Amino acid sequence: MVKLNPFEVVQKQLDKCAEILKLDPDIRAILGVPMRELHVSLPIRMDDGSIKVFQGYRVQYNDARGPMKGGIRFHPDETIDTVRALAAWMTWKCSLLDLPLGGAKGGVVCNPTKMSQGELERLSRAYIQGVRQFIGPDKDIPAPDVYTNPKIMAWMADEYSKIVGKSQFGVITGKPPCLGGSAGRSDATARGGLYTVREAAKECNINLKEATVAIQGYGNAGYNAALLCKTLLGCKIVAVSDSKGGIFSKEGLQPEAVREHKAKTGSVINFPGAKLISNEELLELEVDILFPAALENVITDKNASNIKAKIVAELANGPTIPEADDILCKNGVHVIPDFLCNAGGVTCSYFEMVQNFYMYYWDEKEIHERLDKRMSFAYHSVLNTSKKYNINMRQAAYVIAVERVVEAMKLRGWV
Ligand code: NAD
Repeated sequence: MVKLNPFEVVQKQLDKCAEILKLDPDIRAILGVPMRELHVSLPIRMDDGSIKVFQGYRVQYNDARGPMKGGIRFHPDETIDTVRALAAWMTWKCSLLDLPLGGAKGGVVCNPTKMSQGELERLSRAYIQGVRQFIGPDKDIPAPDVYTNPKIMAWMADEYSKIVGKSQFGVITGKPPCLGGSAGRSDATARGGLYTVREAAKECNINLKEATVAIQGYGNAGYNAALLCKTLLGCKIVAVSDSKGGIFSKEGLQPEAVREHKAKTGSVINFPGAKLISNEELLELEVDILFPAALENVITDKNASNIKAKIVAELANGPTIPEADDILCKNGVHVIPDFLCNAGGVTCSYFEMVQNFYMYYWDEKEIHERLDKRMSFAYHSVLNTSKKYNINMRQAAYVIAVERVVEAMKLRGWV
């Protein structure tokens, strides 16, 4: 993977948007930096009796449009600049989906795959202790991201409730349903992405029932994308991967069987009957739809011209660097940009917030219908803007999102 600073990518994308919108340089300067950020050191008692100090972050990027929202990532390669970039993308994502929310993001530098459940619980609780004054149901509402899950959200909601002395589950989303989690949240990111792919397929004249799919990353986003692509859209999943490598099958893979294999062996690799491929090879396969659903900076100026997919649906945040964007666009690849494609997660998290405030819960069918409506509307707004201004899909998404944030900043008298 290319080592590129994702916050530099944010700046380049923002510069392009500022140029298209002819943004006032003072406004561009405000949009280029987070409003606030907190760095916390988290000493944790490990199972062997030693104490290890973990580094944690919470970046609050912009709250012009409302309370801030963004996941918490546990990852060994986490850096403050990655968290800043993800917080910026959350700001644009919430705005693009027209959610009344700003953007934030959190992270802890750790390797959860090498930690026990007890160590993870102590770390999750310590993180909430560390950021407690920053967050709240109407202030900043975290959620899951890479290597964090509903169980971790439950520990975090519990810790915050203990601190404030009452049940305040609305401080966090992506919770298990019995603690105020929303129906439909577990696959919302992938499902939302699929709604945009369904609309994109019409635009690109692709028959989804005959379409082939490759997916990089087999976690929450990647696995659910595989499952729903097969069951909802009728596509054939020919390749998937995780951090250890990838697998390919011309005949098609059964998503649940691959998941069971990963649960048993720790990886998708060595799945019976499938050919071993690298993550790099997976990206360059001759497929109709490619889902990067792992980490950032995987589509670069080095491999972009080898991408043969007709649609690149960015479930991961920041998988494509700006130079690669130009190449994909020139080659006619239809890119559904990250903060549109993966916005189903935060949209369902927003539904979860509404239900928590409301103390009344919708069923799964209602969640799916509401999600479909918002995702499809956002996709077509981006497509129309891209056609109207003759700009690519990512630039169009930026134009819509940034314009709305700037409007809120102006109305609030910030600029
Ligand atoms: P996850 O932790 O559930 O899964 C991550 C997957 O990526 C795992 O299969 C892991 O093995 C794989 N992976 C890690 N490093 C890799 C590497 N170097 N090469 C290939 N695969 C690698 O995480 P997730 O929630 O599925 O998130 C995946 C992406 O989707 C991230 O970019 C995240 O920010 C984005 N995203 C997730 C959500 C959500 O609700 N889960 C919402 C929006 C965006």
